Amino acid sequence: MSERTLIVVKPDGVQRGLAGEIISRFERKGFKLAGSKFMRVSEELARKHYQVHEGKYFYDRLVRYICSGPVLAMVWEAEGIIAMSRKMMGATFGYDAEPGTIRGDYSCSKGNNLVHGSDSVESAEFEIGLWFDEGELVSWEPANEHWLRGEK
Ligand code: GDP
Ligand code: MG
Repeated sequence: MSERTLIVVKPDGVQRGLAGEIISRFERKGFKLAGSKFMRVSEELARKHYQVHEGKYFYDRLVRYICSGPVLAMVWEAEGIIAMSRKMMGATFGYDAEPGTIRGDYSCSKGNNLVHGSDSVESAEFEIGLWFDEGELVSWEPANEHWLRGEK
């Protein structure tokens, strides 16, 4: 069963010119892009997206950060993508993240960690519904599908 996840290149990722690098990593891994938009995050969207962190000391700062500049929001698809993309992003804090991961290679910061990725099937469904209308998502068959997956 194919799975979808919400990936967001956060404002620091856009400002630092790392959007292409981040897209590239997911593309080369063999994930399929299902939707994308370059946008500013409203405070309302930010608060809903990060509602699980409401009440934590960094919540207001986190909302300000995600609203502080444009972001590139994307939906990517693949079997097992949530676990794989979380591994590719690395640990939450840039200074803890392993080299070879996106955060490990490009961030030394605690909060400014370049990228968001859903952490469970439930949060992916919730977040994709929040950020995208169904009509903004594209269903398509990559020409290299067979070579990416091999025999089942
Ligand atoms: P993620 O799923 O790895 O992005 O991490 P979380 O869901 O735990 O946190 C959401 C985001 O809040 C992180 O990506 C960071 O940008 C930020 N964040 C998390 N914990 C902290 C913290 O202790 N301090 C600060 N300043 N930011 C944090
Ligand atoms: Mg999270």
